[in-house]
Amino acid sequence: MSVNVIDGRQLAEHLVEEMAEEVKARTAQGYQTPGLAVVLVGENPASAIYVRNKIRTAEKAGLHCVVIKLDASCSQQALDEVVIELNERDDIDGILVQLPLPAHLSEERIINLISPEKDVDGFHPMNVGRLSTGQATLVPCTPLGCLEILKREIGDLSGMHAVVIGRSNIVGKPMASLLLQANCTVSVVHSKSVDAASLCRQADILVVAVGVPELVDRHLVKPGAVVLDVGINAIEQDGKRKLVGDVNFADVADICQAITPVPGGIGPMTIACLIKNTLAAAKQRGVKQPVV
Ligand code: NAD
Repeated sequence: MSVNVIDGRQLAEHLVEEMAEEVKARTAQGYQTPGLAVVLVGENPASAIYVRNKIRTAEKAGLHCVVIKLDASCSQQALDEVVIELNERDDIDGILVQLPLPAHLSEERIINLISPEKDVDGFHPMNVGRLSTGQATLVPCTPLGCLEILKREIGDLSGMHAVVIGRSNIVGKPMASLLLQANCTVSVVHSKSVDAASLCRQADILVVAVGVPELVDRHLVKPGAVVLDVGINAIEQDGKRKLVGDVNFADVADICQAITPVPGGIGPMTIACLIKNTLAAAKQRGVKQPVV
C-alpha cells in the first residue's frame, strides 16, 4: 500500500490564507478586526513556544493579537483579574489561557471564568455541554483540526468505526463527541480499558491522544485505517532531542490509508483551528469598528 502522509502544515497554511481573506472582507464591511488575547503564566519553555506559534499564525491571518505575560508566582486573584478584564474588553473576541498553569493556580477556576462566547479553546462547561448536545459552539481546537482532516481525507464519515485512544477533556472526549455527531460508531479506549487492542484493530479511523511515545504499532492498526496521531513527545535519540508522536510512524505507515506525521500533522491544524474559533467568536459578537 502506498503511504499517504497527510501534510497538516500545508493544510493549515491553506486554511489560514482562506481565513485571512475572510478577515479582510469583514473589516472592509466595517466590522472590528477579530482580536485574540493569549495569557501566559510562568516560564514553561514548551508553553512559550506554543504561544509564539499561535501568535505568529494569528498575525498571518490578520488578527489583532494581545499577549499578556504573568510571573510564575502570580496570585490566583491577579490571574482572575486579567481574565475578567479581557472578558469585558470590546476589542477582544477570543481568550486563551495557556495550560498547564503553575500548580498553585486553579485551571478549573480559570476555564470557568472565561466568558463562554470568548472561550476559543472550547473548554468552558457551557461549550462542552453544547458540544455534547449537538449545538453550535466553540469546539476544542485539536479535535476540530482532526475532524477537518478526516472530512478532507474521507468525506462522509457515516457508519465508520472510529476508535479514540485517550479520554482527556482537551482531546479524547470532545473528539468522541465530534465523531458521534459525524455519524461514526465511536469507541473510546483508555488506560483502564480491557482488551483495547482488539477494539483498535477494528478501527476505520484511529485517533491517538495518549502522551506515550510510539505506543501504537502495526499490531493495533487495521490495514486501510486512517490514523491521526495527536501525541507530541520529546525524546532523546542518539544524544539528540527529537519529537515523536504516540504512533510508531515507521512501523504503521505502510498499512494505513492515510496517517498524520509528528511534527507537521495535527499540531499546525490545532493552531489553524484556534484562528477559526476566534473568527467564529468575532462573527457571533459582530462588533463594528468605532465611528470616528
Ligand atoms: P492526558 O494526559 O490528559 O490524557 C491522556 C489519556 O491517555 C488519558 O485519558 C489516559 O487514560 C490515556 N492513556 C494513558 N495511557 C494509556 C494507555 N497505555 N493506553 C490507552 N490509553 C492510555 O493527555 P492529552 O492532553 O489528551 O494529550 C495527549 C497527547 O497529545 C500528549 O502527547 C499531548 O502533548 C498531545 N497533544 C497534542 C496537541 C496538538 O496540538 N497536537 C494538543 C493537545 C495534546
